[in-house]
Amino acid sequence: MIKIVKGSGGYIVADLTDEEVRRASLAGELFIGALGRIDDARIISYHCNNCSRDFNNAPRVVRKSVNELVAEGHVLIEQGEYICKECNAIIAIYKVFGEGISRRYDEDISIRDIVGSRVLYKQESIGIVSDVLVNVKSCSIALLVDHNGNYTNIPWESVEGIGNGVVLLKGKLCARCKYESMPIAEFCMECGNRLS
Ligand SMILES: [Zn+2]
Ligand SMILES: [Zn+2]
Repeated sequence: MIKIVKGSGGYIVADLTDEEVRRASLAGELFIGALGRIDDARIISYHCNNCSRDFNNAPRVVRKSVNELVAEGHVLIEQGEYICKECNAIIAIYKVFGEGISRRYDEDISIRDIVGSRVLYKQESIGIVSDVLVNVKSCSIALLVDHNGNYTNIPWESVEGIGNGVVLLKGKLCARCKYESMPIAEFCMECGNRLS
């Protein structure tokens, strides 16, 4: 079936199998992250955010085999990038992991897989997860997110979906006017009320 599959810098339109659609699904949308490499023949078009336009062919794929042990029984087999043929911007990054023999379920991923993920709020990139922090006093967990060298802590409670090389955030609802602000906002973007 023909589907739009999102990356951090655009999206591709490709003919996917049911299994691939299942693998790419995250919080009701499809992401390239866990799909791996789709052959050019199955890619109908792509959109580059940097060029702000569609191209009626496949982006270039740069892949590297890594075979790196990222956690016990958990191997990163290959990673690669879909690159815009026009401007060389990255449309999406994908990672292919090997069987996790110590994972209990398909749904389990390691904290190590989250590090390096692209953090998205709606269509917008908030940055890259550079670490996952545990506060030893409150035992709360936060993502340390790197946005072009500026670091922001995002509480775990802001995470709406996770996996496939992306972390999706939900916004903060204002108690006063119900407006949904960016997850990193301290004050309501509509009425200026302090957000908890
Ligand atoms: Zn481009
Ligand atoms: Zn408000």
